[in-house]
Amino acid sequence: MTIETESAQLTLDVRNPATGRVVGRYPVHTAGDVDAAVARAEAAASWWAALNFADRARSLDRWRAEISRGRADLARVMSEEMGKPISDAKLEIAMALEHLKWAAHNAHSVLGRRSVRASLLTLDQECTVEYRPFGVVGVIGPWNYPVFTPLSSISFALAAGNTVVFKPSEYTPGVGVWLADAFARAVPNIPVLQVITGAGETGAALCRAGVGKIGFTGSTETGKRVMAACAETLTPVLMECGGKDALLVDADADLAAAADAALWGGMSNAGQTCLGVERVYVHTEVYDEFVELLVDSARGLRAGQGAAQIGPITMPKQLEVIRRHLADALALGGRAVLGGPDLIAGQFVQPTILVDVPEDCSAVTEETFGPTLTVTRVADMDDAVERVNASAYGLGATVFARRHGREIADRIRAGGTSINAFVAHATVPTLPLGGVGASGFGRVHGPDGLREFTYAKATTRQRFSSPLALTSFGRGPLTDAVVDLLVSVLHGRLP
Ligand code: NDP
Repeated sequence: MTIETESAQLTLDVRNPATGRVVGRYPVHTAGDVDAAVARAEAAASWWAALNFADRARSLDRWRAEISRGRADLARVMSEEMGKPISDAKLEIAMALEHLKWAAHNAHSVLGRRSVRASLLTLDQECTVEYRPFGVVGVIGPWNYPVFTPLSSISFALAAGNTVVFKPSEYTPGVGVWLADAFARAVPNIPVLQVITGAGETGAALCRAGVGKIGFTGSTETGKRVMAACAETLTPVLMECGGKDALLVDADADLAAAADAALWGGMSNAGQTCLGVERVYVHTEVYDEFVELLVDSARGLRAGQGAAQIGPITMPKQLEVIRRHLADALALGGRAVLGGPDLIAGQFVQPTILVDVPEDCSAVTEETFGPTLTVTRVADMDDAVERVNASAYGLGATVFARRHGREIADRIRAGGTSINAFVAHATVPTLPLGGVGASGFGRVHGPDGLREFTYAKATTRQRFSSPLALTSFGRGPLTDAVVDLLVSVLHGRLP
């Protein structure tokens, strides 16, 4: 990405990471531009929020159909801007559409007004709860899954009745513009979804623009800056940050399936996946067999252009991180049984499998974001769980085991765990997705993902005049005595 000045308007050029060719030029929106977009979104918010859930679902269905019909073109833009193979781009779009459909069609049942019961002391009250939109939600997204990841916030924020101002990564602005153009065809003339383009400063301006909430997905370091900016105006934030996910292989696991999952989980999207497998812990009894299977299958993979299964590393600066992690691993006694630093050429990193890497090495503790795996022998699954949970991150995990998969999964500190399948929990529309610790907080997807973009609104109506007038200066000694008695009966005895 390079920034140019063109007749007083700053622009950014987007380059295809595989070829270096410029594939798009977009404005660098200033704080003034961002404020104007948020003002337009505020005006549109009352119209969008006033629609009922069914009308909003119809609009979102039209948008879904636009994306579906244009998916070949959208996949091309994704591939040109960040380098992933077209077939992977199409798979990403398919997954995003599943969540969009679920959000649109379930918002009413999750967020709509419902009655809840009062307690004995508050029996005179008829109670309802509903989930109201914030108004305008700002979404800040990364480049690695430029459709799936931002739509995880945008679809749910829109279905909940918010309008959205979206700041895509400076590496994938064209994808963001494509999505907003498709929305404008589905819902013409009203700026329900707008895109602002630019670099980090444009995102920072969105944090300060007075939106009702920021849905941020990106690195943990940027997440901290976003939180600091949002703290100035007490703007609530959703933090979907980085990870260092592990895959655990028990002694009785289906080793071929586990190796296949480790390979896809670690190498697809050139390893640039928040939920990607970066560490593998294997029971000592099956370790040698597993490594052999993994390396054998990995030999068929190649990073390159055209028919290669693995695309380029999108951000030039990420190559330095990958190089450092590989160098640290080798310097501390690790071995590359496949690939290695010598096989990095231009923006392409060949699949690399490391063994014997100490647990305190950067290749094990930090997010690498490249097609690399560390594979570590463990005495048993207790040992594996302890190592997994030692990470500051807690985004996701994968467990391969026949008998004890559920017990192992239950002990892992992560927002989601998939047993005998890689990343399945992120693809099921009814399940929440998010992390703990350095991986962030808040959830996208499922009912939690809808509620994330709302505030809970409680309402009561007095049904009859209570004999126990609790909140009145007219409360007398008799009421106090009855309350006293009720408190002893209701709360003073163990059941
Ligand atoms: P970054 O943190 O570099 O950027 C994320 C977004 O924040 C971009 O749009 C970026 O804009 C913007 N930004 C940068 N600086 C600021 C700022 N000061 N204020 C507001 N916004 C700012 O992440 P990447 O784009 O490199 O994405 C990769 C990271 O995202 C990885 O750590 C990955 O694990 C994580 N991720 C997490 C997911 C999850 O679900 N938990 C899913 C996908 C990715 P610009 O690009 O223009 O600088």
